[in-house]
This record gives sequence, C-alpha cells and structure tokens, in this order.
Amino acid sequence: MALRSTLFIFLAAFLIPASTEARGESIRVSDGVYCVGRGNWGRLKALSDPQDSNVYLISGGDELALVDTGTGVGIEQILSNLRARGFDPNQLKKIFLTSAHFDHSGGVIPLLEQFPNLEIYAGEPEVAPLRDSDAGYLGYSLLSSMPTLEPIRVSHTPSDGEVIRVGRVSVTALRVPGHTPGATAYLAEVAGQRILFTGDTAIGDQPVGKGILGTLDGHWRSNVTDLDNSLRRLFHLNAEIMLPGHGRWFKGRRQVQENLQHCQWRLDFLLRIPDVETLLMIGEAPDPR
Ligand SMILES: [Zn+2]
Repeated sequence: MALRSTLFIFLAAFLIPASTEARGESIRVSDGVYCVGRGNWGRLKALSDPQDSNVYLISGGDELALVDTGTGVGIEQILSNLRARGFDPNQLKKIFLTSAHFDHSGGVIPLLEQFPNLEIYAGEPEVAPLRDSDAGYLGYSLLSSMPTLEPIRVSHTPSDGEVIRVGRVSVTALRVPGHTPGATAYLAEVAGQRILFTGDTAIGDQPVGKGILGTLDGHWRSNVTDLDNSLRRLFHLNAEIMLPGHGRWFKGRRQVQENLQHCQWRLDFLLRIPDVETLLMIGEAPDPR
C-alpha cells in the first residue's frame, strides 16, 4: 500500500499557475477556445469548484460545446463565466466527456436539468458506469462534499475517428484507452489550429515533474499497455495546442510533442517495473480458488 501511495504521488502533482490571458473567471486559450472552469489541482487558481477538472468551451459560432463539465458543484459559476465572455449558454449543444470520472462528468447532471436537449458524448465503455452510478469507476470516493451520485445519460458513443460538428468547428473523437477503457481525446480544428483535448490520458509537464499522467487504478480498469499505445497515437497527431484534463496547457507543436514525449518516458519507466499491474492494482483479479 505504501508503494502504491508513493506511485500515486509520483503520478499526481501540485502545480503553480501558468501565465495566461485571464478575464473574469475564464481564460482564453485561442480563438474560439476558452477555459471556463477549473479546480485548484496543482495549486492553480480555481475558476469554478476547487475539485473540478478543467472545463473548456469550444465556440463554433452559432453552436457551443464543452469538453468536460467538472463535478457539477461549480456549474453555475461555469455558466456565469461563459456569459461573462459574451456567450449564451442556450447555444450549448454538445458535451464531450474525456472519461466517466466524476470530476469531469458530474456537471452533466445539472446541465441537463437546464438544457435537456444537450447531446452527451463519451466512449462506449463509460456508458454503463455513468448510468449505474458506479462510484468506484467514477472516482467518486476520492472526492469529498460531493452531491449524491445520480445516473448520467450518455446520448452518443462516438466511434474512433468520428467527426462531430460544433457549428463551423470539426471535432474528431479519438479512442485512447488506458486511463479508463473508454477514455476519449478530442482533436478540434479551430481557426486553422489543431487543438488536442487529452483529458487525463496525458496531463504533461507541470512544475513539479515532467510528463504527468492521470492516476491509474483498478477501480476504473486502467491498463498500462493500452495507455502506451494511446500515448504513441497522441504524439503522432502533430497538435499545436494540448489541453489536458487538469493543470496547465501547452502551445506550439514542439511544446506539445515534448510534453507527450515526457509522458511516454514516464510510462516507459513504469513499464520497466516488474509486475507493475499488481503494484498499481490494475491487473485482473486472481482466481480465488
Ligand atoms: Zn481527472
């Protein structure tokens, strides 16, 4: 258990704020993309509830989409941040979840109460845990002071490579299993730039360490071999901006590639540990007989 805790610290990180163009409680990433919610992970200044994931807004003109939603506790702040940027929440049409984890998906519940026609996108393996309020899979037990779990309805399970329109913006869903089986990255072409939303598959360099990865755990069926393949795939996408599920983001193709490379080095290090699946408690449970 002590070794496992050490690895948890090894994979997680505490960060300092990145310098960005902030206005009110949101930050412009590029034309048409904003960070409208964020927790205090890594000691960043929270833009919404302290336990929220990063929440990004994609503006495609007459349609808006969010990538992840935070826990739900901060949803009114997120909507207020959006309005302060001059956007109308009634134009929100789609939610893209990078995983089922509650700090990313919990906001779907209050959002659907206000906007019942929202389309919710997630990888197919995430559907049942979200529907069944599977607390272990959703990482719910890691969070305190959260609202009661309610079923979350996914309306779309994009196939790998499926292109989804958000107004004039094209968003490609990319299945990147590893952190969870249904982990999904999204690659958006916005104002001529390739913007990659990596969720917790690759969080990247942060002040306390290079190549931070999302926590791996048996509760959400992490798989290091799948993660290895997924990271290699992200590296070859030649994205110009990388927006992770927590922490600061990265601009410039070289920066993005360096960060993904550092994630790969960190995983390579893990993969050299004998029987790493048992150490991380992510392998198949042994037959008790
Ligand atoms: Zn997360």
